Amino acid sequence: MSSKENSTRMQTQCAHLGGRPTGNEPFVPAIAQSTVFNLGTAAEAEAIFAGETPGYAYTRFGNPTVQKLADAVQELEGGSGALVTSSGNAATLCAVTIAMAGRKGSLVTHPDLYGGSHELLSILREVYGLPVEIVDPSDEARWLKAVWQAGAVLLETPSNPLMRLIDLKSTVDAAHGNGAAVIVDNTVATPFNQKPFSFGADWVVQSTTKYLNGHSDVVGGCLVKREKLTAQDRRIHKNLGGTVNAMEAWLVLRGMRSFALRMEAHNRNGRLVAEWLGQQKAVSKVYYPGLGGSRQGEIFKQQMEGGSGFLAFELKGGGPAAERFLDRMELITHAVSLGGMESLATRPAMSSHRGLSVEERQAAGIAEGLIRLSVGTEAIEDLLEDLERALGE
Ligand code: PLP
Repeated sequence: MSSKENSTRMQTQCAHLGGRPTGNEPFVPAIAQSTVFNLGTAAEAEAIFAGETPGYAYTRFGNPTVQKLADAVQELEGGSGALVTSSGNAATLCAVTIAMAGRKGSLVTHPDLYGGSHELLSILREVYGLPVEIVDPSDEARWLKAVWQAGAVLLETPSNPLMRLIDLKSTVDAAHGNGAAVIVDNTVATPFNQKPFSFGADWVVQSTTKYLNGHSDVVGGCLVKREKLTAQDRRIHKNLGGTVNAMEAWLVLRGMRSFALRMEAHNRNGRLVAEWLGQQKAVSKVYYPGLGGSRQGEIFKQQMEGGSGFLAFELKGGGPAAERFLDRMELITHAVSLGGMESLATRPAMSSHRGLSVEERQAAGIAEGLIRLSVGTEAIEDLLEDLERALGE
């Protein structure tokens, strides 16, 4: 399917998310804000608990509104089952737990993974002895060898904040050679720009906090499976406990109605801002999908349809220039996170990566003058005017 057809289809899917009403039901799904459900007779309760008839017992196990959100994310990602979680980190924890259960070998991942995912893996390693191997994917031979020996693989493409891309097809082929599941964090790319299941990935994790909800007002997550969910998947999800109530699920579902329209604007503005920044003499480097070196360009063409609104750039003046830039912005807000309609900027060296020494940051490619920008849906003229002011002498 061409990118044009994909985005048109997704606009239609988004306008109808939540399912078509049957009979005289409301078009917008009801909010089933209840922890408990009437189980009926003893025989009816038995059928629900045994999974013989569809039904709900307790909201941590399942809830009609939460299920509508699971169905919606599953539909956009093109999977066969989905589980909603209370945050993106909870989705990663659940996917890693499921993928590593009963597996020999390490969880293979890469250095420029979202900082919170790194911290989560450190905790799992320290407390439960989870074997974790961190390999640089730009050395493709080393990466594929590690992936081939892995218990499971967790990757992020594009990565946060350096927007590095990882070849999904070769990674999945190598992992499947040894029966390892591949989990792709698709938060930055979103299903609008990248469909990991079409390359054979096993799980997609989403922080719905970002582009899917898109309004910077709910923290949430979701994990989607290429194949059907098993009883063991559901067992792990409900007992890890990072589930949500109906109200949060409903808010994300409501935000997702405009997802495809917002992504068109994020992609357009992100690309224009990245190209503009590349022409500024105060800027030494721009990190944006499709603008990287030739191998990165190849991967972009192979697996992405757009670059999103997320990017990073380095200022020649280093740390002092980055601080001055943040202090001079008037329209763009100095704040963490991404994926809302408002533009946000941070300096990773003093926010997400402040726990590392200068040398460690250098090794991870996080320069002192690096700025991370979540480009919103504002008029491009206003954004460029603010960037020009912030970069000015
Ligand atoms: N994955 C990526 C790529 C992220 O950027 C984030 C948060 O910034 C997460 C996962 C974690 O999401 P949450 O904050 O919803 O737990």
